[in-house]
Amino acid sequence: MKRAVYPGSFDPVTFGHLDVIRRAADIFDVLIVSVLNNKEKSPLFSVEERVKILEEATKDIPNVQIDSFSGLLIDYAREKNLHVAVRGLRAITDFEYELQIAQTNRKLSNGNLDTMFLTTSLEYAYLSSSSVKEIASFGGDVSQCVPDFVAKKIYQKYGIIK
Ligand code: ADP
Repeated sequence: MKRAVYPGSFDPVTFGHLDVIRRAADIFDVLIVSVLNNKEKSPLFSVEERVKILEEATKDIPNVQIDSFSGLLIDYAREKNLHVAVRGLRAITDFEYELQIAQTNRKLSNGNLDTMFLTTSLEYAYLSSSSVKEIASFGGDVSQCVPDFVAKKIYQKYGIIK
């Protein structure tokens, strides 16, 4: 049984993330999408909210499970007996950062955690959770970036009635 973890902030999940999730779920028998509880960032959605949103957004993909973790990915992966992390690459700017994390994780885990990169589908290459939040905070249209129910939740957070 080939299992992998797709870790990230997912604040909130976008069509770019969902594209990576679908494609990774086709490759692995089980894909665990795990929300990182990162205390350094001040998220728009709580971890619990992000988990719920991901559950709803992936409910039609049977081999996807949603979870959350805090601390180091290598510790979480060891606990769950996971040996592959999936990450998405949008542009060369992602690459340098992701390469460093991937190599650190491989080193710290003594070769027990490898990272597999999926390059973004071109139509989502421009998408990031932070740009979606910025557009939505000004009442802009994010219908091409996130599922409708997610767009509603973002507008609600900013007190925008649509
Ligand atoms: P983090 O804060 O950990 O970077 P994100 O939720 O922003 O978390 O992203 C999680 C993963 O999804 C990262 O590997 C990121 O590169 C990838 N990703 C984000 N947006 C897209 C996108 N539009 N297309 C493909 N991958 C993406």
